Amino acid sequence: MAGVIITENGYEFPTWKPHWYTREKLNKYYRQLSDNDPDIRRKFYKLLRISSSAFIARRDVRFVIFSRDNWRCVHCNQSDRIQVDHIITVLDCANGWISLEDLNKENNLQALCIRCNASKPHTHRTPNRVNNINNA
Ligand SMILES: [Zn+2]
Repeated sequence: MAGVIITENGYEFPTWKPHWYTREKLNKYYRQLSDNDPDIRRKFYKLLRISSSAFIARRDVRFVIFSRDNWRCVHCNQSDRIQVDHIITVLDCANGWISLEDLNKENNLQALCIRCNASKPHTHRTPNRVNNINNA
C-alpha cells in the first residue's frame, strides 16, 4: 500500500505532515493559545480539524488503525461502519488537553463505529486519561 512502510511487526504508522503553510499557521496559533483569545482558539480549532480529518480519512491511516483494532469498534465490538476516531479530540487539543504533536499519533486514534462515535460524550476526559495517552 502506498505510503505505508512495512516492518517486521506489521505496519508503521504514517506521520501527520500538514502542508508547510498550514503547519506554520497551526504552530503560530498554538503558541498563542495560552493568551486565551477565543478568536485564535477558534481559528486554531477550525484549521486543525480540517487537517486532522483529512489525515484520519487516509487509506493508509485507516488501514493501520483498523488492523490494530481487529476491524471492530473498540467500544461495542461490531465491524459495521467503523471510522477512525481521535480518543482525545481536536477540540480537546484546542483546549490544551493534548499537544499538537500527539493529537494525530497512533496511540490517540481508535476504531469506532458511527453509532458509538455519535454518542461519545464530549466531557468524559480526565487529566489522568490525558496523562496516560501522553506517556504511552
Ligand atoms: Zn460501536
